[in-house]
Amino acid sequence: MTVKLPAIHLPKPVLLVSQCLLGDPVRYDGAHKQHPAIAQHLLPHITTAALCPEVAAGMGVPRPAIRRQQMGDSEIIALASSGAALANSLLSTSQRLATHATTQTAVAAILKARSPSCGIESSPLFNPDGTILALGDGLFVQQLRKHQTHLLLVSEEQLHDAESCVYFVRLCQLALALKLNLLREDWLVYLRKANALHQLPALGLQEVVRELSGESAELHYLEPLPFIGRGKN
Ligand code: SF4
Repeated sequence: MTVKLPAIHLPKPVLLVSQCLLGDPVRYDGAHKQHPAIAQHLLPHITTAALCPEVAAGMGVPRPAIRRQQMGDSEIIALASSGAALANSLLSTSQRLATHATTQTAVAAILKARSPSCGIESSPLFNPDGTILALGDGLFVQQLRKHQTHLLLVSEEQLHDAESCVYFVRLCQLALALKLNLLREDWLVYLRKANALHQLPALGLQEVVRELSGESAELHYLEPLPFIGRGKN
């Protein structure tokens, strides 16, 4: 599809990124989860704000593995090995990180799947007997949803190749252009015609992001959008 839209000059969008995905050894076992596709295809085009809620909460590296656990009507953090309730500052730290000034400048977050802190709809909630009750958001993600409703949330598993990374960069640039009020009517007409989800409030960007890596996702219209950044993008 030929795109004849006026170029939009943008700074690189700020994205929160789970620190373990950047190759930093901050996981409970002292390991990392560096993600090659993100490093190669995405990081050059964004301003990265790395964070690890569990390290920020003073839990140390290495540390005992933890899990989200149902306790009556409440959800607690417990030791994964025994289910014993853990008194820690993870909730207050997650609240603090979710309302921090850097977080407010971010347009998106790339977060580690299945983590009790960073998992997006993929974090297991356990019964006290160790069986899985449900999947949901990790503690930090719960706070992000509460305090930063505009953020585009994505797991690293949705960014498995160059194409999905390029599409996500474009969606982040759109989010930033929307935030800065730089999208003229001709842009809006193009986007709404290309994908019906853009008819939704806030251009439906949250909904489009959910399509990333989906088998039926038709997101090729994003690639030629004429954004001009200060870096390579
Ligand atoms: S998943 Fe989140 S809390 Fe766990 S090590 Fe990575 S950044 Fe830290």
